[in-house]
Amino acid sequence: MLGVGKVKDDYSTLTAYAVDASIYRMTPRAIVLVESEQDIAATVRYAVQRGIPLTPRAAGTNLTGSAIGSGIILDVSRLNRVLELNREERWARVQPGIVLTELNKQLARDGLLFGPDPSSGDMCKLGGMLANNSSGPHTLRYGAVKDNVAALRVYLQSGEWLDAKSYGLDDPDFNALLNSYRPLQDLRSLLQENATLIVQKRPTVSKNSCGYNLFDLADGLAQGCFDLPKLFVGSEGTLGLFSEATIRLVGKPHATLTALIHFDRLEDVGDAVPKLLKLNPSALELMDANTLNLIGRAKHGIPAKAAATLLVELDADNAGTDLRAQAERMAKICRRYRLASDPVIAFDPEQRDQLWKARKALYPTLYRFDPRKKPINFVDDVVVPAERISELIRYLEEFFSAQRVPVAIFGHIGNGNAHIIPLLDVNDQNDFQKMVQGYHEIHQTVLGRFGGSICGEHGDGRVRAEYVKSMFGVELYGLFVRVKRSFDPCGVLNPGIKISDRPFTEHIDYVRLSKSCATCAKCNAVCPVYDVFQSEDMSSRGWFEIVTDKNYSYLNSKRVVEACLNCKSCRTACPAGVDVSQLILDRRAEHPNKVAGIIFKFHAQSMRFERFLKVLARYQSIWDRPAIRRLLDRLTKPFMRGLAETAGLSPQLVMPRLARRHLRDRYPELIPKSGQATRSPVAYFHGCAANYFEDGVGDAVIAVLRKHGVEPDLPPQRCSGTPIETYGHRALAKEGARVNLASMAGYNKVVTGCASCTLMLKDYPTLFAGEPEQAAAQALAKRVTHISEFVSQSSVKPAMASEQATKCKVAYHSSCHLRAAGVTKEPRAILAGLPGIEYVEMPDADRCAGGAGTYLVKDFETSQHIFERKRRAFEQSGAEVVATSCPACMIQLRTGLHGAAEVKHVAQLIQEAYEAADRQAKQT
Ligand SMILES: Cc1cc2nc3c(=O)[nH]c(=O)nc-3n(C[C@H](O)[C@H](O)[C@H](O)COP(=O)(O)OP(=O)(O)OC[C@H]3O[C@@H](n4cnc5c(N)ncnc54)[C@H](O)[C@@H]3O)c2cc1C
Ligand code: SF4
Ligand code: SF4
Repeated sequence: MLGVGKVKDDYSTLTAYAVDASIYRMTPRAIVLVESEQDIAATVRYAVQRGIPLTPRAAGTNLTGSAIGSGIILDVSRLNRVLELNREERWARVQPGIVLTELNKQLARDGLLFGPDPSSGDMCKLGGMLANNSSGPHTLRYGAVKDNVAALRVYLQSGEWLDAKSYGLDDPDFNALLNSYRPLQDLRSLLQENATLIVQKRPTVSKNSCGYNLFDLADGLAQGCFDLPKLFVGSEGTLGLFSEATIRLVGKPHATLTALIHFDRLEDVGDAVPKLLKLNPSALELMDANTLNLIGRAKHGIPAKAAATLLVELDADNAGTDLRAQAERMAKICRRYRLASDPVIAFDPEQRDQLWKARKALYPTLYRFDPRKKPINFVDDVVVPAERISELIRYLEEFFSAQRVPVAIFGHIGNGNAHIIPLLDVNDQNDFQKMVQGYHEIHQTVLGRFGGSICGEHGDGRVRAEYVKSMFGVELYGLFVRVKRSFDPCGVLNPGIKISDRPFTEHIDYVRLSKSCATCAKCNAVCPVYDVFQSEDMSSRGWFEIVTDKNYSYLNSKRVVEACLNCKSCRTACPAGVDVSQLILDRRAEHPNKVAGIIFKFHAQSMRFERFLKVLARYQSIWDRPAIRRLLDRLTKPFMRGLAETAGLSPQLVMPRLARRHLRDRYPELIPKSGQATRSPVAYFHGCAANYFEDGVGDAVIAVLRKHGVEPDLPPQRCSGTPIETYGHRALAKEGARVNLASMAGYNKVVTGCASCTLMLKDYPTLFAGEPEQAAAQALAKRVTHISEFVSQSSVKPAMASEQATKCKVAYHSSCHLRAAGVTKEPRAILAGLPGIEYVEMPDADRCAGGAGTYLVKDFETSQHIFERKRRAFEQSGAEVVATSCPACMIQLRTGLHGAAEVKHVAQLIQEAYEAADRQAKQT
């Protein structure tokens, strides 16, 4: 009924969905990847009829265990479109699977923004934000999700769709609504009968996501409206499922200022906060001294004596607001206090992002601190009056110091919302007891002494459900139970969440909490495979779970383990320092691919392999014709199947022209004679593509080096090893790597033109970890320099010119492996400085294009699905040329863009600028 591919219950999928970003684990029975409202309805009906627990799930980034369950997980990720946007009235109708950052990217084109901004915005999705009533640093200005939702479409357990919006009490539709939906009648009566109790029990702090929001509903009734979204926002999937939301939007600020202020004394922070709030900041964030120590002060430029750091953001709504004058006012306030250094103030978006970076990734970064003691979220989200935040921090520091537990305290200080993350080894009985003690004592103190809330924005989930009764008292809790029973009489909707008396220690994932992954899903946000499949079993975080699970075997997980592109985007993004791609390579190394082994062994016999390629080159004009390519694809299928079920030589793949004379044949003068000492301090590691293809890259790199006064050597070399390791042949990769280590040993610099070679050579220390070659590998890694780095660092500045009458728009696709090697700015800076070029930053420039070396042979269809996002981004950029730093990416760009743009290597564009200058010099 639901259709193929939407229901999964295999080992890998269940394992991937057993976790979210909380401390818990529950293995579900099945996963449903819904693609329509009909799918939602069918799944809920099925669960209700059979009494199977049903848990809605979006990105699974909640910190409370609310997106895992023992029954069916209904994943809304594939419902991820903006259905309607009204620019004038500033609202949008949006599906629940859209990622917040993606949503805001789309809205930004119309100068709009969805205000609530959890720090997990790169990965969390609207459905989860709605159900958790999420908020974030900018809640100060924009409020929480509940303040920004106009309507929801909700599927109820009773089998009906409800348009949950705010109804006037005298609206005829309202009466019709009450007559149609019994739970709504119950709800109105409950609110009317208990209005006084609800008003009395309303939390007095500025934020609360604990319990059901009967408070705003009761306020609404008093003012003549039945504000239904207020019930469902924050209900954590326990009352109904959302298929879409109408959200209110705000205008993007005209300009923004971000400042970091390092205080010498914690007490001063409490004093400064009310004064800074008068400047009407859009965000006011705090990190305490321990947090600064744990994330590493030196790394983030934080002074050693800072007792706390404030991050302040001020917005200008129009061109008339003078942010510099605001900055001066802020500095004046700060001058009253002892600061550890001058405030750091940034206006430029890139610098501002840098200031936010550490703050946003704080929680997973804490995973790096200790192999056993992990950041445990169990008192992570308390709220106190903002002016008492220093008092709270002092209390917490004393509490944890008495327990001898390291703790990070940070959060949205402007709202008095503190995130408290102690580092504990829950597998140690002592630490476990400390956790239980802290859970009760701190929550009790927040309620009793501070009159606060135990939950500001993360939701109650499993972790706080036990304490909701203590927060509101038995009577009000009884009302919550009535609401839950009325909307979900058979208790299938997310049981164990919010309304539950199970202890918070039930279902803790002791095994995972001794591993290195924070399950934060930051890697999923960049994983190209997840982007296409929107399913946890096809995602970086899911793969970590699968390949480190005790029941893992290659056979039960081959499908997913073979789906990774080895693009390394996850490694670049992971704040906890986990390299999922490496774990997958380790697993593949246990099962080397036989067909790939045959190919790579042939490849390793350079002479024979090169002769074969030259024959292919000679006849390329024949075999590269569409009809023959189709035939070849069919004929080679049985062999290619050994590589992967999906493998083939798709006729749509734009083959690069094979060189009849390889690069090494064309530059015999650069090849050191065997047995001779090195001729040059610089070696060019050209790799396979530049040698075998006639793509102009190798010639360009050599020409550019020559212009910089370098006559490079082309020492003997074998494949750097990336594709070989990708297919599990680690021993063969090492064999080639040893040849490379020996032949590159005598050079001061080893210049590369290929992103994958750059990364692989820099990664040889990992390949030879603990082996005799490691020292040599480390020495080589330091000397590897991509051509764009070389040009940026060179003191020689050759003349450049352009022969074009008008400027050519050039965008840059940043190859994943070069990003992983840390080279991102240099190619862009070079392009921006080339004459005759207008450099445009393409959206999603830093996302994988899906080629991944041989992936477009291994799974052409998926590689093209991945490319689709790049194609759209390129279209938006309006560029005529797309530049990149990797010959393999060039193949994918040419294949996917279908001639819509010229594709060039950065080195080629540099070479063109130098040559144009030479020609012009000759003419004058
Ligand atoms: C590093 C990090 C930083 C974070 N920072 C913040 C922060 O600053 N502020 C903040 O508020 N939170 C923060 N969070 C918590 C979390 O990211 C947010 O609560 C987020 O909004 C959850 O969204 P999600 O898509 O991951 O939802 P999920 O985790 O998938 O689900 C959350 C809840 O929503 C329910 N749900 C999902 N979709 C639907 C639907 N369609 N219908 C009904 N119910 C549904 C689920 O059942 C569950 O109860 C952070 C988390 C991490 C890991
Ligand atoms: S691998 Fe890293 S980024 Fe991915 S979920 Fe784990 S900690 Fe987060
Ligand atoms: S290497 Fe790329 S494809 Fe593989 S898990 Fe990481 S991000 Fe996903």
